[in-house]
Amino acid sequence: MMQKQFVFYILLATLAQVSFAFSNSSTYEPAYKDWVLGMYEPQDFSAFKNVPQNLTYYEPGKLYMLHQDALHAFERMHFEAKKDNVTLILISALRNFPYQKRIWETKFQQLKNDDPLKTDELIDLEIMTYSAMPTTSRHHWGTDMDINSVEPEYFESGQGLIEYNWLKQNAKRFGFCQPYSPKNDGSRDRGYNLEQWHWSYMPISYQLLSYYRDNINYDDIQGFSGSQDAQKIHSIEDYVLSINIQCLNWKKSIESQ
Ligand SMILES: [Zn+2]
Repeated sequence: MMQKQFVFYILLATLAQVSFAFSNSSTYEPAYKDWVLGMYEPQDFSAFKNVPQNLTYYEPGKLYMLHQDALHAFERMHFEAKKDNVTLILISALRNFPYQKRIWETKFQQLKNDDPLKTDELIDLEIMTYSAMPTTSRHHWGTDMDINSVEPEYFESGQGLIEYNWLKQNAKRFGFCQPYSPKNDGSRDRGYNLEQWHWSYMPISYQLLSYYRDNINYDDIQGFSGSQDAQKIHSIEDYVLSINIQCLNWKKSIESQ
C-alpha cells in the first residue's frame, strides 16, 4: 500500500513537471494596449529577454531587455558589423512605464527648479526635444534601442560617424529603421530631434505603431507631471506618429522588394 502511494506521488510530481515545462515552452507578450503604453512588468512576459552583457554598456542594476525577435536581429547585426570593424553596443533598450516615468520626472523637476515660473506645457516641450512622455515612448515596446551613445556630437565625426554611416547603410537588412531621422531632409518635419542612436525593429514595431494609431487616445496618456497638456501639444500626432517616412512605409518597401 505504502509503495503504491509512493508511485502515485512520483507520477503526480512528474506530471506537474511536464505541464510546467510545457507552459514554459510558449512565449507570452502583454496585451497590446498594456504593451504599447508600457503597463507591464518585463519579467512577466517570456517574449522579453535579457540582452547578453557583452552587447550592452554595463551599468550595475540597469535593465537591458528586448523582445526576443528584436534581440535576435540585433545580435545578427552586431556580429555582421564586427566584420567591418564596427562595434554596436546597447545604451538603452526596453523601458516600461515606471522606468520612463523616473526619467521624465527627474527632468521635469530639474526644469521646474531651474525656473519655477515656467509652465508645465513649456517644460513638456523642452523635455520632448529628445525624451518621450511615459505612455508614448517606443522604448515601451521592446523593439527600440539606443546604440553606442545618446550624444548627437558623438555621431558627427570619427568613429561615431563611421558607425552611423554603417547603420544607415546596413540596418535595414536586419529589419531596423531609424524613426527619428533629420527633420529637414523630407523624411519628417516635426517631433523629437534627430536621434542617430535610436533604431527600431520594424517587423514588430510597425504593428505596434499601427495599433497605437487606431486604439490609443489622450485619456490613456496620464499618470505623470505635465500629462494634462499632452493633447494641447499633440503628443500623439506630432511625436508618436511623426517618424521617418521610410519607417512608416516600411511594410510597402518590404512588399515591393
Ligand atoms: Zn531611444
